[in-house]
Amino acid sequence: MTNIVLQLSKEEINKVQSYYASDRIERNAPGVVFAAKLVDTAITVYKSGKVMFQGAGALRESGRFGVADEATVKKGNGAKGDTLPENFSTLSVIGSDETGTGDYFGPVTVAAVYVPANQIALVEELGVKDSKQLTDDYMRKIAPDLMKACVHSILTLRNDKYNTIQAKGYSQGKIKAMMHNQALKNVLTKMTPEKPAYILIDQFAERNTYYNYLQNEKELVRENVLFSTKAENLHVAVATASILARYAFLKEMDRLADIIGFPLQKGASGKVDEMAARILAKHGETTLKSISKWHFANTEKAKTLLRKKAQD
Ligand code: MN
Repeated sequence: MTNIVLQLSKEEINKVQSYYASDRIERNAPGVVFAAKLVDTAITVYKSGKVMFQGAGALRESGRFGVADEATVKKGNGAKGDTLPENFSTLSVIGSDETGTGDYFGPVTVAAVYVPANQIALVEELGVKDSKQLTDDYMRKIAPDLMKACVHSILTLRNDKYNTIQAKGYSQGKIKAMMHNQALKNVLTKMTPEKPAYILIDQFAERNTYYNYLQNEKELVRENVLFSTKAENLHVAVATASILARYAFLKEMDRLADIIGFPLQKGASGKVDEMAARILAKHGETTLKSISKWHFANTEKAKTLLRKKAQD
């Protein structure tokens, strides 16, 4: 659900109230001075001058009264998880994120990064933005500088080990949770005696599920841990973690490309099936298994492709 907040002047707020006068509803929540409901949008006016637009029509409706700054839109843009303190993006935070979980070929990587308040500007200067907008080449370029600048921990779970623990019954969620917990422990150890104001995990599971995955772990990182989806937009520490995780993923993909002789297809599409079938034909199962997440459906699809080829 889209969620947009505008900070408006008294005059603009008067306009909002008269515009939606016929759609007004009663809402007795603290701080709320006016509320209206359209078919696809809820509008709430707060005493502070903030006006919130929620729902499928939020962008259209908010557009009548002002343009929300990018950060405000992103922050409310359907992110799920904990409510963060208002000044969150300015605090000293450890962020963590993972990558590779949806890719048939290559590892799962997790990075945790500490960005203290006084380093936020530096990290931004080094080029950290929303990682979804960053290209692989750009991330390769800035990652080494970020690694030098920030206390961090990067874990790369290679395919052989991934396949072993997956076959033992570990779900991907559990694998990810164990890696996040380990990376966070590493960073906390490295930065001692300093402590972060918060830890923010880019949410892949809700808090209870996350800690359920970790029920057999001896040492749990729990203090001041927050979860949110789209967390890379909420603090540069998570954006940096996401870049470092991606960087480690690309490095391992490079190593695998050297072994196989060509770059491996990312993702888990039909192209991946075809490539896997080719590798299976040329190198056999052991090799394919050593560079892939073997339990993915792509394995069976590749085998089927190969059988069909043999019949042609
Ligand atoms: Mn993530």
